[in-house]
Amino acid sequence: MASPSFGHIPGVAPGHIFPDRRALKAAGLHRDLIAGISWSKAYGAEAIVVSGGYEDDADRGGEIIYTGHGGNSETGRQIAGQRLERGNLALARSCLDGLPVRVIRGSRGDPEHAPPFGYRYDGLYRVVGFWSEIGKSGFSVWRFHLVKESQTPRRIHEEPVAYGESPRAETTIQRIVRNNELVQMLKGIHNYQCQVCGIRLLTLAGPYAEGAHIRPLGHPHNGPDATDNILCLCPNDHVRFDYGAIVIAEDLTILDSTSLVPLGQLRTHPEHQIDSAHLRYHRELFARQLPVRDT
Ligand SMILES: [Zn+2]
Repeated sequence: MASPSFGHIPGVAPGHIFPDRRALKAAGLHRDLIAGISWSKAYGAEAIVVSGGYEDDADRGGEIIYTGHGGNSETGRQIAGQRLERGNLALARSCLDGLPVRVIRGSRGDPEHAPPFGYRYDGLYRVVGFWSEIGKSGFSVWRFHLVKESQTPRRIHEEPVAYGESPRAETTIQRIVRNNELVQMLKGIHNYQCQVCGIRLLTLAGPYAEGAHIRPLGHPHNGPDATDNILCLCPNDHVRFDYGAIVIAEDLTILDSTSLVPLGQLRTHPEHQIDSAHLRYHRELFARQLPVRDT
């Protein structure tokens, strides 16, 4: 199998209907002919087919509660419990890494949202949560909560989640996906360890960290889309950094902005160069509020 590509497939607009799974695969939307989840162990899951294959699936259009795979008979009836492994683990990985998942609906799915025939590409969703529960059959199933992408960035330092539906948004989308690859690479270099506090958050689906842009992307800051402008942080330190609760000095000392008390040194890695100009830019965003040193 080829390596996965995340995000929209260039030239395939949401709403496009394909006659069968073979055509879906040929278009690069989904890499399997039968399985619901298109996934890889190393990267996560990049696409799902929602086609009513599982009795516990719930499709509300912009929101889907998707059942993981395993433990069902050919008719879709659950005959054994599911584990957080294979495609299920990959969907959880996509949740942790904030990766976009292509949603494809089959004609046998929920009549209200299913296409009239074949398989329809319905754009990008994000996995916002996952959990295990007892399904209708009495066996445990893994459930994945997917929500259609909106254009709203969660925080200014975060890449805007502009997986827009119009074709002209395609270049933006490719840029976002490329940026996500940079972030994934950086997290790997740091082994998901926070560069500020050193914590490595371990979840059932593996380690979790966030890519934090030092100089914010987009208007009006126009920070670059490059690894020398990204830090690997835990969520707490990501928020502290974005809102100026901590700044990083020229010599990479981490300072508490309210007291200027040094909190330690930024953890670095030889394979991850950081541009000190971006750190200075970030410091200056909050410098006017920093306390004046007595000396
Ligand atoms: Zn941290």
